[in-house]
Amino acid sequence: MTDSTTASRETLGFQTEVKQLLHLMIHSLYSNREIFLRELISNASDACDKLRFEALHNDALYENASDLNIRVSFDKEARTLTIADSGIGMSRDEVISNLGTIAKSGTRDFFSKLSGDQQKDAHLIGQFGVGFYSAFIVADKVSVLTRRAGEKADQGVRWESDGGGEFSIEMVDRATRGTEITLHLREGQDDLLAGYKLREIIKKYSNHIVQPILMQKEEWKDGKYEMLDEDETVNQASALWARSKNEITEEQYKEFYKHVGHDFDDPLAWSHARVEGKQEYTQLLYIPSHAPFDLYDRQARHGIKLYVRRVFIMDDAEQLMPQYMRFVRGVVDSADLPLNVSREILQESKDIDAIRKGCTGKVLGLLSDLAENDKEKYAKFWGEFGSVMKEGVGEDFANKDKIAALLRFATTKADNADETVSLKDYIARMKDGQEKIYFVTADSFNAAKNSPHLEVFRKKGIEVLLLSDRVDEWVVSNLHEFEGKQLVSVAKGGLDLGALEDAAEKQEQEKQADEFKGLTDKIKTSLADKVKEVRVTHRLTDSPACLVAGEHDISGNLARLMKAAGQKAPNAQPILEINPKHPVVLRLQEDNVRFDDWAAVLFDQALLAEGGQLDDPAGFVKRVNQLMLEMGK
Ligand code: ADP
Repeated sequence: MTDSTTASRETLGFQTEVKQLLHLMIHSLYSNREIFLRELISNASDACDKLRFEALHNDALYENASDLNIRVSFDKEARTLTIADSGIGMSRDEVISNLGTIAKSGTRDFFSKLSGDQQKDAHLIGQFGVGFYSAFIVADKVSVLTRRAGEKADQGVRWESDGGGEFSIEMVDRATRGTEITLHLREGQDDLLAGYKLREIIKKYSNHIVQPILMQKEEWKDGKYEMLDEDETVNQASALWARSKNEITEEQYKEFYKHVGHDFDDPLAWSHARVEGKQEYTQLLYIPSHAPFDLYDRQARHGIKLYVRRVFIMDDAEQLMPQYMRFVRGVVDSADLPLNVSREILQESKDIDAIRKGCTGKVLGLLSDLAENDKEKYAKFWGEFGSVMKEGVGEDFANKDKIAALLRFATTKADNADETVSLKDYIARMKDGQEKIYFVTADSFNAAKNSPHLEVFRKKGIEVLLLSDRVDEWVVSNLHEFEGKQLVSVAKGGLDLGALEDAAEKQEQEKQADEFKGLTDKIKTSLADKVKEVRVTHRLTDSPACLVAGEHDISGNLARLMKAAGQKAPNAQPILEINPKHPVVLRLQEDNVRFDDWAAVLFDQALLAEGGQLDDPAGFVKRVNQLMLEMGK
């Protein structure tokens, strides 16, 4: 692992995932190569923000030079490009972990999903964020010189790599704090060695950066550019969110998003507002256009940066957004919070509660607006983040109705899982006499769609919502009604179709319950503890039997989900319902040969049909074969 050429110089290997990232990036992003500058400037800006924040408590970190800026320069002869910042810098350990590994949870998982198809994978890399390593798109050697603010001059660090499998690191003297990144350009990248070209890229991607981005002034003289002994600021260098909306172009909003969101793609939508009143703050909140790879990791970074009067305070201020909106990215800049606010203080702060409420309301408003006015965008949002929004039904009591209005579900009225319906539209197209919103839960769209519990609904043309997302069980256990209409599982409790059934049907059902009383009792005796009850049903048209959960028990689907997650599910026995019109049931009514086997098979197939697992699959197979043989006789 070590190959010392000088006393402190070491060569270390990159983490495997870094190697994969480098390889993928170099091969898939060159058509977008200019973004490397945006990424490096974005990091430099973050480093300046961090220094400013740490210096709030420790002024010495400025080392008597409180200027925070970013400098971009080039050397035509040497064919190098340098991005330097006067930010926080890095210690040796920080360099090794920041520029040698990827410290995001779920990284390994992400890379294991890559297909090797560069076209496809190039898209995925956007979800991951490219960052520092994007330097290797245009450079075949990168050299980083850095020193952490406040450390002695001999604590400088030089990091170097050609983007292959390893990097070298050594301690060097460095008088100034901050980081300087020098790119040795690849063949064919020489157009980047021109002031006007770099200015163009900076204006395009980094205009919104708060710190000044400095470049040496140039003058056109005698047919070429002459360098002057003076710097100029290339970007606008003011906080974008603090400007008024009509001064900001759509492009600027998008570029700013890529910086705060560490994202490669444009955002889907955003909301920018200054809030006045008891709390005064500015919010600029973005909905990304795709889910990050670690969306389901509740420990993953959150996307809101907190500023107090333009001073950066912290990244990932999770108190500013509820968990179910953890995909939102952006900035909140408070005019009231103290500069020395810490995460601990945030947790208890009433001011923060008010800001969170405000931000939550804004995002809900933005989403309702999309749902109403831009169905296509909303469908995209729902596809990416719907499962996370659903968590909100149980998490955010105050906004439950608003969240419920944003929910979308697959339905028996559509052919595929992507064609969804809102609860509002469902109600609008309910059948005459229908009082309730019906749903079925299962572990996949197909299982839900083919559930035997839907038979009577299909026959009567009643729409049923098909819920197959894991979180759906959580949704329906928290959402009992919408706009006065009860949500009812078609696989739970007795089937009461209310006015959807006429008097004749009801009469017939009562009659059959009497007629089959002997049979249902007998099956119950045979199945004993496996079932809570056996009864005649009118849910079924084609199947002989199905299982339903008691009114107050958990559904079979939920019990299975809990077991799969290693949780202990309450042991609720199901109710077996039999179809009095089915030939198998009629035969049982008349014939007593092998009654116990018939009853067991009836139960097992009902369990299979709803996606359950048999306790004794071999026993089931044996019984079915036995019965088949006898039928043949
Ligand atoms: P990300 O910015 O998404 O965390 P990067 O790969 O771009 O990922 O950077 C990794 C880390 O390296 C950063 O989080 C930061 O801690 C550190 N870093 C990168 N550039 C600089 C810089 N110019 N100054 C100080 N630290 C930096």
